[in-house]
This record gives sequence, C-alpha cells and structure tokens, in this order.
Amino acid sequence: MKKPALEGGRPQRKQYLPYGQHRLSSLDIAAATRVLKSKWITQGPIVDEFEKAFSTRIGCRYAVSVNSGTAALHAATASLGLGPGDEVLTTPLTFIATINAIIYAGARPVLADIDPLTLNLDAKEAENRINENTRAIIFVHYAGNPSGFADIIQLSQNRQLSLIDDASHALGARYNDRTIGSFAESISTFSFHPVKHITTGEGGMVATANKEAAEFAKTFRNHGITREVRERYGANAPWYYDVGLLGWNYRLNDIGSAIGLSQLQRLESVLAKRTAIAQFYQREFRNLPKIELPSTQANAMHAWHLYTVILREEELTIDRDKFVEALRAENIGATVHYSPAHLFSFHRNRLGYREGDFPNAESVSRRIVSLPIFPDMSRTDCDDVVQAVRKVLNFYAR
Ligand SMILES: *Cc1c(COP(=O)(O)O)cnc(C)c1O
Repeated sequence: MKKPALEGGRPQRKQYLPYGQHRLSSLDIAAATRVLKSKWITQGPIVDEFEKAFSTRIGCRYAVSVNSGTAALHAATASLGLGPGDEVLTTPLTFIATINAIIYAGARPVLADIDPLTLNLDAKEAENRINENTRAIIFVHYAGNPSGFADIIQLSQNRQLSLIDDASHALGARYNDRTIGSFAESISTFSFHPVKHITTGEGGMVATANKEAAEFAKTFRNHGITREVRERYGANAPWYYDVGLLGWNYRLNDIGSAIGLSQLQRLESVLAKRTAIAQFYQREFRNLPKIELPSTQANAMHAWHLYTVILREEELTIDRDKFVEALRAENIGATVHYSPAHLFSFHRNRLGYREGDFPNAESVSRRIVSLPIFPDMSRTDCDDVVQAVRKVLNFYAR
C-alpha cells in the first residue's frame, strides 16, 4: 500500500492543483483592452450588450447586471419590499451571501434543512417553517444541481410566497428542459466571481421575467437614480434626474462586461468540460464504498460548479478535516463547501440557532469535500485527483 504524503510518502504531484481556476483567453483580454481605449469604461454600451447576450443565452426576459452575485441577491430581496417581521426561508448549506441578502433587505432569515441526496433545500422542511410572517423562499442550486427546484416552485405557488433562486453555481444548468434563469416563477441571481462558470472579475446578474423587478434592480444598482448616465449624455439630453428609492452603487463596469461577454461565447465548452470531468470522477469513484457520490434527478442537468463527495465516517479512521489535510499534502486542493451557515458566530447569535437544529445539513457539512473541477484541468490532473483520493482512502480505511 502506498504511503500518503501526510505520513511521509511521496506527494501525488509536485504542483498544487486548486479546486477552481478561472481562465482568460486572448479574446477576453482583447475585448477588455478595446474598452480601456474607448470613451466609456463604466456605464457604457458594453454593459447593455452583455445583458442582451446573457438574456438570449439564458432565455430570460430581463437581465440586469450588477457588480457581484451578492449585489444581485440584495437587489432581488430588496425588490420584494420586505421589512421588519418578514421572514424568508432558505438553506443552511450555502455561501453566506445568500443569507446575508435577507438581512440586508430588513427581513429575518429562517433556515430549513436540506434533502441529504440533492443537498438542496427540502420542500417539506421548508413547508414546516412557513407561518403568517413568511414572505419568500430563496432556493440555491447547490454545486449547480437544480434537483428539487420543482417542489419549491410548487410550494411557493401554493403558499403565495415570492421565490428567488440563487443560481451562482448553476449558469447553464437545466431543469425540466428549461434553462435555470428562465423560470418566470422565480427571480434568479448569478455570480461572475472568477471561480464561477464565467467571470467579469467581480460581477453578477439578476434574471427575471418580471418587468417591475427588472426596473427596480436597474434603479437599485444606481443609487435609486431614475435615469442612467448615458440617457443624460449629449447636448440635447436632459441633465437632471430624480432619486426614487434608496439604492446602492452596484454597477458593473464596461471592462468587466466586455470580459463577461467574451467569456459567455465559451460557456458551452466550459459546461462540456466540467461535465466530462464530473463524469470521469463518477466512473472512477463508483466502486469506492468509503464515499458517497453526487446524484442528480433525471429531469435535472447539472452545471458542475462543484464536484463534492461525502465521506462515510464509519469506514475511515480519519475525519473530514484530516482527509482534506491529507489531500492537500498530495498537492490536491481539496476544500469544503460549506460550513453550516447557522453556526457562524454572527448568524448563530443574531438568529439564535444551535448545533443540532439542521441534522442533515450538519451531517453533510461535517463530511463533505470539494475536489478540483475547472475547464483547464488536464487528463493528468484528473488522474492525480483520483489516485490521491484512492491512496488516502485505502490507507485510512477502517
Ligand atoms: C459565489 C456565490 C455568491 C456570491 O457571489 P459574489 O459574486 O462572490 O458576491 C452567492 N451565493 C452563492 C451560492 C455563491 O456561490
């Protein structure tokens, strides 16, 4: 049996392989350079072009760009007109921005447990937490997997709740033959952070079929100002504007938009590559009894932002943290998505949660590991991940 690097053996590879890595092509760089040499570096024409191309690709009526996925979530929650006493349901297994966006809007996050198979918000758990103060639900397509979305759509409609889906992981994912972001039943938000499918440096998008929500987001991202700067530019254009609501500076600039527009042209190959890597892992790990593999419902097409496995603790002599440490010693950038949101100091204090409140999310969160997945991984990179995982699992088998 091979000795893991953590025990003094030779590491699987010499160079560290991160769990995710963006790629900028020469076309992306040329597009950004053209903007840098133009008259508008922010709030210019490329922002509109990017939004149009995005809405065409996704099939949404309106796409409103902002400067982060978090800003997209904030614009979405704020568009619902929430206030003190209002409650919004969501999952504890998400990036903390999902939950913070509820607090930003002045409402109270109420968490409900996940389905341990899909790792997404469980509709029955969510339903059990609905009361007369509940106003909305935020669904998260964890890892890019839209499984279970239909049950949440159904629930939101039955109980007349607004629905937002945080699609930060799910650009290009499909459910029941529809692209995530094109569902009229929900306001969708996307992130263009470098680790996501496409990047603008930092950036995000609100996708909706709802005209009022789109108009709200456009004003909200620009201090609440009623007219955009290009509508006020030129000898015959009116200079004045009104401020209709309390907005923020959440504008995406033209430099990022140009990069995003260029990256969007490659989305199909990014999705194909991520899917191929995930399928390779699924095949190679199929017969390893010590880990559980991700599963997707038949009607769901996964976008594979993350590839996660769940350790069967009872089969191993080490815990998840030691497993991650062992893989890192092999130069495989394993990591964790996510620590349970209700147990962070701030959120635990503010919302009054304790350990044990969400057994499924806590159990998954304690055992889950993200393995490297990004389009530029070579066949050797993928093999290294598989070999290192096998080596570590075998050595620490109970
Ligand atoms: C990345 C991410 C966000 C936030 O996006 P930023 O662009 O980093 O602000 C929100 N929710 C989820 C689930 C994410 O993965």
